[in-house]
Amino acid sequence: MHKAAGKPILAGIAIGRLRVRRGADSRTSAPSGLSPERELERFEAARSLAKEQLERLRQEMCEQVGTSDADIFQVHQLMLDDEDYLAAVRYIIETQSATAEYAVWATGENFASAFSAIEDSDMQSREADVRDVSNRVADILTGRKAERPFPDDSFILAVDDLTPSQAVQLDRGKLLGFVTRRGSANSHTAILARALNIPALTAVDFDENWDGHLAILDGCNSCVYVDPEPELLSDMEEKLQENLRERSRLQSMKHKSDVTLDGTSIALHANIASDRDVGLALQNGAHGIGLLRSEFIFLEAEQCPTEEQQFRIYRRVVETMAGKSVTIRTLDIGADKEAAYFHLPPEPNPALGRRAIRFCLQRRDVFRQQLRAILRASAFGPVSVMFPMIVSVEEVRAARAILDSCRVELIREGCAVGSVEVGIMVETPAAVVMAGELAREVDFFSIGTNDLVQYTLAVDRQNGDLADLYNPGHPAILRMIRYVVDAAHRNGCRVGICGSMGGDPALTETFLRMGLDKLSVPPAAILPLRSLIRSLDLSK
Ligand code: PEP
Ligand code: MG
Repeated sequence: MHKAAGKPILAGIAIGRLRVRRGADSRTSAPSGLSPERELERFEAARSLAKEQLERLRQEMCEQVGTSDADIFQVHQLMLDDEDYLAAVRYIIETQSATAEYAVWATGENFASAFSAIEDSDMQSREADVRDVSNRVADILTGRKAERPFPDDSFILAVDDLTPSQAVQLDRGKLLGFVTRRGSANSHTAILARALNIPALTAVDFDENWDGHLAILDGCNSCVYVDPEPELLSDMEEKLQENLRERSRLQSMKHKSDVTLDGTSIALHANIASDRDVGLALQNGAHGIGLLRSEFIFLEAEQCPTEEQQFRIYRRVVETMAGKSVTIRTLDIGADKEAAYFHLPPEPNPALGRRAIRFCLQRRDVFRQQLRAILRASAFGPVSVMFPMIVSVEEVRAARAILDSCRVELIREGCAVGSVEVGIMVETPAAVVMAGELAREVDFFSIGTNDLVQYTLAVDRQNGDLADLYNPGHPAILRMIRYVVDAAHRNGCRVGICGSMGGDPALTETFLRMGLDKLSVPPAAILPLRSLIRSLDLSK
């Protein structure tokens, strides 16, 4: 039996075969632990291997279908000798201490976006080519193509790291749990795992030879056992059954209200990432959707989802919630959440970069499309819209003006539109300080503690090495929450929490005493919190 320790993302137990997958995130991870000289050597080796592969493909294609169809491989070979392309890859490696795979991927994306902006069909066709050839070199560097496909049975995934867009594409039906070598318990991938109630650990130093072996992921004790002893296996199977029994015991709370013994009430809503999670929210007794992280719908798609596609998804959520309120957060893209089709250029400090509302106010075409879809869905039930990463009153006014103009446009087109409440995420220190002024602009606040902790304590939530410094219990954070609640209520604005702190049972009583109106938490956290809330008596 082998044992490897990790850090918890979600407590819970999974038992199944381990499937080891390599560096899923290596394309986007910079900087490298290796020297730039070594990364340049790795790049050169991968480049010549890619050229050999392309030559072989060209010859095969020539034999099968003739030279003109094989020309494409020659174009790709030439790109790998292009002076500008090579200079750009080397520049990123040397100036950012980046991995070779990151430099190749970023150069591919940068060139693709540069080509797409040139109004010449030849140049535009080079957009796909440069991305394709860059992916080929990046795949060689990460060893991606050598991996075996996923098996048909359920499994526990072991992977270096997972980006949110990779996580969202995993087959939820087969995935029992996952462990990552890198990453942080506060990342969006971790949040997704919690939303789906998938046991998960990070910072696990697993061995690649464990691929295919039976494993126990013990999220409660933060470790993985591989080839477990029979006694341990039967103990853990018993615990797993016990967890399931506890879950079904809590089902009796499903339709109860969120009220303490002395009559203080707070609404428990669910955080979800797509229409597929609505079942989980209902099954766990959510009294509404407090946060639909709409960006995951974008991350799952190959192309930017159209207004019609988004409308169908939002409408499905609204109809399924059958009259319970649904809060849709507008696209919070950027930082760790990247969609290739937006061609976001790499940024030196992505968390402080063109994220969320900043992106939407620049890409108004994308923003309007989403707002129109949300407004159309509001004709089918109570919908609220919520803007992320707000730092100023001006941003709220600009976003609201676009929302209003979309409403006017839809009505002119004869579309049915409901009345939509408007709120903002309070997740930056600036929004906290401006809470009084901001509260006069909107109907509700939702405190995003995940980012608020990151920006207040100046600790990157993605960086697992700083996990000890990422402290939601820091007195500054609780003081800020209290300040926001008071400022909101003084100005007639409701206030909830939708960051991970909202689901921490150790803080529930504090939040009730502060007077918060709502907690929006991962679906699986609702019933245990409801059980706790109903047992509290604040008059004592
Ligand atoms: C937060 O920041 O607390 C939040 C809910 O948003 P996200 O975790 O998606 O950034
Ligand atoms: Mg946030």
